[in-house]
Amino acid sequence: MDYDAIVIGAGHAGIEASLALARLGKKTILITQSLDAIGRLSCNPAIGGLAKGNIVREIDALGGEMAHLIDKSMIQFRVLNLRRGPAVQAPRAQADKFTYNRLAKESVEHQSSLNVFQDTVVDLMIDESTKHIVGVVTERGNKISAKTVVLTTGTFMEGKIFIGEYVTSSGRLGEPAALGLGPALRKKGFRVDRLKTGTPARVRGSSIDFSKMEMQAGDEVMMPFSFDYSEIQRPNLSCYITFTNEKTHEVIRRNMHRSPLYSGEIVGKGPRYCPSIEDKVVRFPDKDRHQIFVEPEGIGTEEYYLNGASSSLPEDVQLDYIHSIPGLEEAVVMRPAYAVEYDYLDPTHLYPSLESKIVGGLFIAGQTNGTSGYEEAGCQGLMAGINAARKLEGEKPLILGRTEAYTGVLIDDLVTKGTKEPYRMFTSRAEYRLNLRHDSADQRLTPYAYEIGLQKEEAMQRLNKKVEQIDMVKTLLQNRRIGNKTASALLLQNDINLDDIAKELPEIKTFDPVIMYQVELDIKYSGYIQRQDKQVERYLKMEKIIIPPTFNYDEIDGLSAEAKEKFKDIRPITLGQAGRISGVRNSDMAVLMVMLSKSRKHKESDENGQS
Ligand SMILES: Cc1cc2nc3c(=O)[nH]c(=O)nc-3n(C[C@H](O)[C@H](O)[C@H](O)COP(=O)(O)OP(=O)(O)OC[C@H]3O[C@@H](n4cnc5c(N)ncnc54)[C@H](O)[C@@H]3O)c2cc1C
Repeated sequence: MDYDAIVIGAGHAGIEASLALARLGKKTILITQSLDAIGRLSCNPAIGGLAKGNIVREIDALGGEMAHLIDKSMIQFRVLNLRRGPAVQAPRAQADKFTYNRLAKESVEHQSSLNVFQDTVVDLMIDESTKHIVGVVTERGNKISAKTVVLTTGTFMEGKIFIGEYVTSSGRLGEPAALGLGPALRKKGFRVDRLKTGTPARVRGSSIDFSKMEMQAGDEVMMPFSFDYSEIQRPNLSCYITFTNEKTHEVIRRNMHRSPLYSGEIVGKGPRYCPSIEDKVVRFPDKDRHQIFVEPEGIGTEEYYLNGASSSLPEDVQLDYIHSIPGLEEAVVMRPAYAVEYDYLDPTHLYPSLESKIVGGLFIAGQTNGTSGYEEAGCQGLMAGINAARKLEGEKPLILGRTEAYTGVLIDDLVTKGTKEPYRMFTSRAEYRLNLRHDSADQRLTPYAYEIGLQKEEAMQRLNKKVEQIDMVKTLLQNRRIGNKTASALLLQNDINLDDIAKELPEIKTFDPVIMYQVELDIKYSGYIQRQDKQVERYLKMEKIIIPPTFNYDEIDGLSAEAKEKFKDIRPITLGQAGRISGVRNSDMAVLMVMLSKSRKHKESDENGQS
């Protein structure tokens, strides 16, 4: 069994990595613990949301799969924050979890150049003389060789789940942990640590009294995530909202000593922004209620997901507090809430290409790098797959900047700063978020995907047509006057939108609503965008100053000991990246800048033959 690439794990990262590799013509094998769990939505049956929706559209623009999967499986769609600024608007869809799972499995099975194989990887094979990956060893003793490996183990590496006093080895309720690989990686010198996340109970729909809850309907018009579709027709189910109350909090407080989180059983850190219900009760003692979203998990199932109520309390306590919530008084629990703790690898051991600095040809993506979330995993998997393929071709890696994509922000944050708690994407992590709108993901990224071979000619033609039409509408608005102002000047007014303008200029109605949406946002926020463009210029200047990989920090006087240590460990590839490392001071940057310009001048004079 000899491959160009092995992908370990068929979660959201592994699916994108293996499809990208195979679509780029690389002979690939996707090895995963269970073929039936390919693309399983472990937690919330939903894709997208703030910043995450933008990532899904970025994955699509780059030739990935996630947008297609959710477009064909959604059962509710909403654009979040429609009344707020464009930088924070984002699509979110509720998924039928079985359809999503089935389609994910189909997509990898039907892909040419891709083998899918059920087994568990327990060790990596490394050529000790070159420190390069040569293959993997599996639980059943299979030795499979390959020139590159993408590691995406999710919550399974040495996974352990907790439901009160019940603790067992598992990666997800009902599924075994992947044992062996974590200790093997520790032995090989990888920095391995523990993280934790949790999921709420699933309750039976027919036992819920929805009349006591607020209904949350989806948008009337469902919008596809993928740029490949112009419209979408799917069933549109409702979600519901209810609240915890003083009685709920009292039950939780009274039983806190039975939570493994508080008894010290769980050592891994949990997601700060997605706390368990017991965490919320402790951290916000003044709040007399917390919101719970009651969300369907699919069309053909009774299971409802209690979003906002993840927990590791014992099952009897879960039942007590669930029954104290309006509408859930008679709720029948079908699966309990639980927490999972697992091994992850320090992502500062990676280059921005997601290749390991310790073992050449080994790429790491998804939850293994300390992130949490399907979208965060998917975009890393895609980039790891692309860059493994490019490595096989001897090509330079594709590295997205912070100004170009949330995917770029996420990877830069991980490899530059690392993470000590599950990393989740937020709009606030992106300094240039006005440039990272979900509607412009194709303009930002499809040309890259076309260049590397992951997008076809049709995608570029569609993109060119879109850009042309946007320009046409903008020109029209600049040239036509309504009263004493141009139409575009009028659009800058808060109380005027493109629909108002269309009453005077009916010809703009002939354009696609997607074009109109983008033109409206571009014009309305042009002042902010121009200001941001100036910041982007400054950022790009710093990103253009490359630090040679062999740069010797030990030879520099004047650097603080902390900066020296961090530069040597992280090995930033640009001056910009060096400046983003935590603990690096302005004075360190000034010294580094002088040394880099000296070494550049020295190199230039050497090249010119003047020593
Ligand atoms: C209990 C729980 C709670 C969660 N809560 C949240 C949340 O609140 N918010 C949120 O955004 N996300 C949450 N998630 C996380 C979300 O499920 C993950 O972020 C996402 O699935 C990560 O994708 P991934 O591809 O990295 O890994 P996963 O989806 O976990 O997939 C990993 C795959 O790799 C396979 N595998 C692992 N090791 C091996 C091996 N050695 N050999 C072969 N196959 C292997 C596994 O069987 C699995 O199929 C939660 C997950 C769980 C389990």
